[in-house]
Amino acid sequence: MPSLDGGPEQVNRGRNAPSAPLEAGLYLVATPIGNLGDITLRALSVLSGASVIACEDSRVTRKLLAAHGIETPMTLYHEHNAQRARPALVRRMAAGEAVALVSDAGTPLISDPGYKLVTEACAQGIKVTALPGASAALIALQLSGLPSDAFFFAGFMPPKSAARKRALAELAAVPGSLVFYESARRLAEFLADAAAVLGSRKASVCRELTKLHEDVIEGTLDVLAARYKADGPPKGEIVVVVAPPGAADAGQAADRLDELLKAAMARFTLRDAVDHVAAESGLPRRRVYARALELGGPQKEE
Ligand code: SAM
Repeated sequence: MPSLDGGPEQVNRGRNAPSAPLEAGLYLVATPIGNLGDITLRALSVLSGASVIACEDSRVTRKLLAAHGIETPMTLYHEHNAQRARPALVRRMAAGEAVALVSDAGTPLISDPGYKLVTEACAQGIKVTALPGASAALIALQLSGLPSDAFFFAGFMPPKSAARKRALAELAAVPGSLVFYESARRLAEFLADAAAVLGSRKASVCRELTKLHEDVIEGTLDVLAARYKADGPPKGEIVVVVAPPGAADAGQAADRLDELLKAAMARFTLRDAVDHVAAESGLPRRRVYARALELGGPQKEE
C-alpha cells in the first residue's frame, strides 16, 4: 500500500520500475482523462522510479497506480496547499530526488496545478521535463470538426455572467478556434453568453472524451444554448470548441460556391461554367476550377 509522503526510500517499486535510477528533477507526467490505458510506457517507468509522486488527490492517483502495479509514495500538491508544499518539494529535488507531478486527470499545468512549481524549479537550476499524454483540450480540438491549424486554449471562463461576457469579448477577435473547459452545470449559460458575445458561430460540445459515452454535438452557439437550456445539464465532463471568427461565413461561401457551380455545370461546359461562376462570385478562377473538378465536372458534354 503506498504511503502518503513516505520519503525517498522504497524497496519494491512494482513491475514498471526503470532499470537505472532516475536523474534528480521534476517530471511532469500526463495521466489518462478517462481510459486507464491512455498512459505511456515512459510515464509508468517514471512514476515507478520517482522518489515521490506529487498529486492533487491521493485517492484518485492511487487508483491509477494500483492499476499499473506502482507503489511509489505520494505527497499532496493542490491549489490549497501548493504554497506550503512547494518549498519542501523544491528542497527534495535540489537534494537529488526525482519528483513526478501528476494531476487528477490529463496534463499537469493545463487548468491544473504546477506552473509555480515549474518556475521555482527552473529558478533553482533543477532539471524539469515533461512526459506527454492525454489532455482534454487537444482531444476535443481533434474531434470538434472545427479548424485545428490555429487555436486558443481559454480554459475555464469566470462563473458569473457579467465577468464571463467580458472575458469572452476579449477573445472575439482571436484568429483561431477557441477551446473552453466548462462544467456540465454551467454549460447552457456559458453557451448563451458565448452566442451573445461571439455571434452565431459553429461550435462543438465534446463530452466524456476517451470514456464509454464519449460524444460530440455540433451546432451553432445559439442552437446549442437553446438545446441545453431545454434538456438540462448533460452528464459528465465537457470541453466546448468554438469556430474562429468568419469561419461560419467561409462555410456559407463554400456552400454558395457549390450551389452556383452545380447550377452552371448543368447548363455549360466546364470552362464556361467556371468562367461564369468566377465572374459571379468574385472567387479566383483557379479555386472555382478545382472545386468544379471535385464536384465531378459538368453534366454537359464539352
Ligand atoms: N489537466 C486536464 C487536461 O489536461 O485536460 C484538465 C483539468 S481541468 C481541472 C478539468 C476539466 O477538463 C473538466 O472540467 C473538463 O472541462 C475537462 N475534461 C477533463 N476530462 C475530460 C473528459 N474526459 N471529457 C471532456 N472534458 C474533460
